[in-house]
Amino acid sequence: MGAQVLDGKAVARTVLDETAERVAALRYRGKETTLATVLVGDDPASAAYVRSKRRRAAEVGIRSVHHELAGDVSQDRVVDLLRRLNDDPSVDGILLQLPLPEGMDDQGTALEIHPSKDVDGLHPTNLGMIVLDRPVFAPCTPSGCLRILQHYGIPVRGANVVVVGRSFLVGRPLALLLAARGADATVTIAHSRTQDLPGVARRADILVVAVGRPEMVNAAYVREGAVVIDVGINRTAAGSLVGDVKYDEVAEVAAAITPVPGGVGPMTVAMLMHNTSVASELRER
Ligand code: NAP
Repeated sequence: MGAQVLDGKAVARTVLDETAERVAALRYRGKETTLATVLVGDDPASAAYVRSKRRRAAEVGIRSVHHELAGDVSQDRVVDLLRRLNDDPSVDGILLQLPLPEGMDDQGTALEIHPSKDVDGLHPTNLGMIVLDRPVFAPCTPSGCLRILQHYGIPVRGANVVVVGRSFLVGRPLALLLAARGADATVTIAHSRTQDLPGVARRADILVVAVGRPEMVNAAYVREGAVVIDVGINRTAAGSLVGDVKYDEVAEVAAAITPVPGGVGPMTVAMLMHNTSVASELRER
């Protein structure tokens, strides 16, 4: 296995350390930083995600205030809570754990979070700021991918980047961030209707995969010496986690690759903490 392992856990540690410093500086100036977390229903995976986010928050000195609503509440109750948190001057950021229980509209509900407290960076205003090349809160997973590349000094400017997946959560905002002025990559977005996906993917200097299909991308998709970022998180029948990339096979041809777990996953939570510290700084002014 020749590829360099891009250690997302280590990069996340750097981001968390920086965030802890920013939060401590805010506290020194008399400003506490608070993240409100909202969990609707009792899905164990969602509950575990919220717990891990709250743990990270505590680690970096961010106070988290947790709100739990039963799975059978009306969407109006969730919206009411979000509006109260919007109006609460002690709250800097709001995390609404998605997906919401069946029958609720994830995107419509998340729209209720005020853009200045949208630390997940998924409100249309914040997504729009990326289109305008003036990001305030970039979505956490895409910005985590960029941060890994930056940390390891992998040149993005002028590189051919292929992003496989076009979700509003990952693929599309990541493609915009990579093509933005300053990042300056040449970006191709591929998806389920792309013809000859292996051929398109092989043109990439940097291949980012966010499709949600366990180990779909094998060595045939990867040019020798390419950098591979695997965003996928899939649970196997045996209970282990695998990415969207066939790691062992691709690591033979790639120059560098993110593992799953321990790649992009830890970055997502770290960038959420980063965004929360930025939200706190912006509210301080
Ligand atoms: P999503 O909303 O389901 O989007 C998947 C995208 O992949 C779609 O654009 C889809 O194309 C494309 N796709 C599906 N099958 C394909 C195929 N056979 N060939 C080419 N493209 C295909 O998923 P998502 O929310 O972006 O998440 C993607 C993966 O990332 C999942 O495994 C998820 O668990 C993981 N994830 C990880 C993190 C993290 O923290 N590491 C965060 C978020 C998501 P169409 O648009 O044509 O349907």
